[in-house]
Amino acid sequence: MNLTIISKTVTDHFSDFDFSQLEKEDREIIPVDHPLDPEAVAKIYKEKQPDRVILALPDPLGHSLKEHGKLTTLIEHQGVNPAQIAFINLNEIFITAENSDDALSRLQTQLLLAEFRLENTPQYPLEIYPPEKELILLGQPPDKGFLEYLRENKVAFQSVLDTDSGDGAGVKIIEFQGFTGNYTLDWKQDSSKKQARGCALVIFPDSLTDEQKEEVGTALRYPMLNSTFLAPDNRRSHKNGVWLVQTLKELQTALLTIKPICDGKEVTTFIESATVDPTRCGLCGTCVKTCMFNASTLDTEQQTSVVDPAKCVACGNCVTACPTQARDLPSYSNSYMHGLMQSLHGFTQADGTRLLVIACESNGYAAVNHLANEKIKVSPSCMFLQVRCGARIESFLVPVTLKAGFDGIAILICARHECRNIVGSLDLERRLNLYRSVMKANRIEPGRLRIIPVSERKLDSVPAVLNKFADYLANLESPEGSIFSL
Ligand code: SF4
Ligand code: SF4
Repeated sequence: MNLTIISKTVTDHFSDFDFSQLEKEDREIIPVDHPLDPEAVAKIYKEKQPDRVILALPDPLGHSLKEHGKLTTLIEHQGVNPAQIAFINLNEIFITAENSDDALSRLQTQLLLAEFRLENTPQYPLEIYPPEKELILLGQPPDKGFLEYLRENKVAFQSVLDTDSGDGAGVKIIEFQGFTGNYTLDWKQDSSKKQARGCALVIFPDSLTDEQKEEVGTALRYPMLNSTFLAPDNRRSHKNGVWLVQTLKELQTALLTIKPICDGKEVTTFIESATVDPTRCGLCGTCVKTCMFNASTLDTEQQTSVVDPAKCVACGNCVTACPTQARDLPSYSNSYMHGLMQSLHGFTQADGTRLLVIACESNGYAAVNHLANEKIKVSPSCMFLQVRCGARIESFLVPVTLKAGFDGIAILICARHECRNIVGSLDLERRLNLYRSVMKANRIEPGRLRIIPVSERKLDSVPAVLNKFADYLANLESPEGSIFSL
C-alpha cells in the first residue's frame, strides 16, 4: 500500500482543499499537523504498515538539516527500504497554483510522479558498517567557545589546517572520500602523507585564505569559495558529511545531524554509485575523461571500466557520456528517465501553455523553496521536475518530452563556477548545439528549449526569466512543418 503523509500546511494556503479526492485503491492520504514529528509518524506506521511512503510537505530538502534525517531513519526502522520513501515539495504548488482546483490537480500530478519514481526505483541493497567516532575539523574555529562546546557535548575531534596553533603550516589537502559516518581526509605536511578518519568533516571557511579555500575546494570537489552559508553536502544520502560552519549556532545545527551518526553503533545506508554493464563496455575511456571525481578507471584485464564507490558521487556525467549505455545509476536510471519523460504525457492535458522546468537539485531547485519563502509566484504555465544534475538530460529526451505535450523546456542548472558536479553545467552548455540539431531533426523549433544558469545568490532572478519564456512560448507561432503546427 502507498501511504501519503501530507502536511496540513497546505490548508493554510488553500482552505477548501479536499484530500479525500486524491485517495484511490492502493493509495491512502493522511493529513497530519506535523508530518516531521517522528512520534506521530511512528503511530501511523504501526497502524497502517505501508510498503511505500510519500511525504508531502513544504521544502523537504530544507528540513533535511535536522528532521529529515531523523524521520527517514525512523521510517527505515519500521521496515521500509529508503528507496521506497519519496517526497513531494508543496512549495512547487504554492508558487504556481492559481486556485484550489489548480492546486489539487498539481498535487495529483506530483503524487503520480512520486509513485512513478517509487515504482521505477529498485530496492537498494543496504550497507551496514560501524561509524568513525571523531569529527575532522578543518581550519581554525572562530573562537575557543566552539571547541569547549564540542568537549562539553562529548564530541571527539581532530584538527587539520589549524592555522592558529601553527599546525596549518605546509599542509596540502589531497583527497576527501567515503560515506556517511566514515570519511577519510588525506593530506601532506612537509612532504609526509597523513590521513584523518572521521564521521564528518566540519570546515571553518572564515579561517582559510582564498588560496586555501580554493585548494581545499578542489581537493574536496566542493565549490567552497562561493558557499557562504551552512552547506551540508547532504543532497546525496550517502555523502552527508561536509559542513561549512561560521557560527556556534551553525555548529549546533550540524551536530544535530552528525552526533546521532557518531554515537550510533552502526550506519545503515544505501551507497549510490554509477553501475557498469561489462557486456556493453567497449573500453573507450570516455567515462574516465568525463569523471571529475577520479572515480572511473579502466580494468584492461577484466575488459571493462570500473567505478570506485568511495569516490563516486553519482552525478551521472559518465552515464550521459557513455556511447554504449554501459553506465547507469540506481536512482535516476536510464529506464526511469525515459519512462518519466514519456509518462509526462498524462500530465499535459490542461489548457494553456505548458512549460516544463527541469531543475537540478542544487541551485536550480533551490529557487523553488526560495520563491515560496519569499511568497513570489511564477507563471502558472510552469511545472517543475527535479533531477540530480541538468547534465543528466540526454539530448533525445528533449523531443520525447515536447512530444508528450509541453510547449517548451527550461533546464535550470547551477551557474558554472557553482556546479556541485564541477563540470555538469559546462557539459550541458557544451551540448547545446547537439540538443538543437536533435530538435531540428524532430521538426521542433530550437527556441523551445532554454538552458538557464542560476547563481545561488540570484535566485530572485528566476521568476522573471521563466515568466518571459512562458510568454514567449504562448505567443510563438510555429512555422509549417513543425510538429507544433499540426
Ligand atoms: S564510456 Fe562507456 S563504453 Fe566507454 S569505457 Fe566507459 S563504460 Fe565503457
Ligand atoms: S557518476 Fe559521476 S562521480 Fe560517479 S563515476 Fe560517473 S562521472 Fe564519476
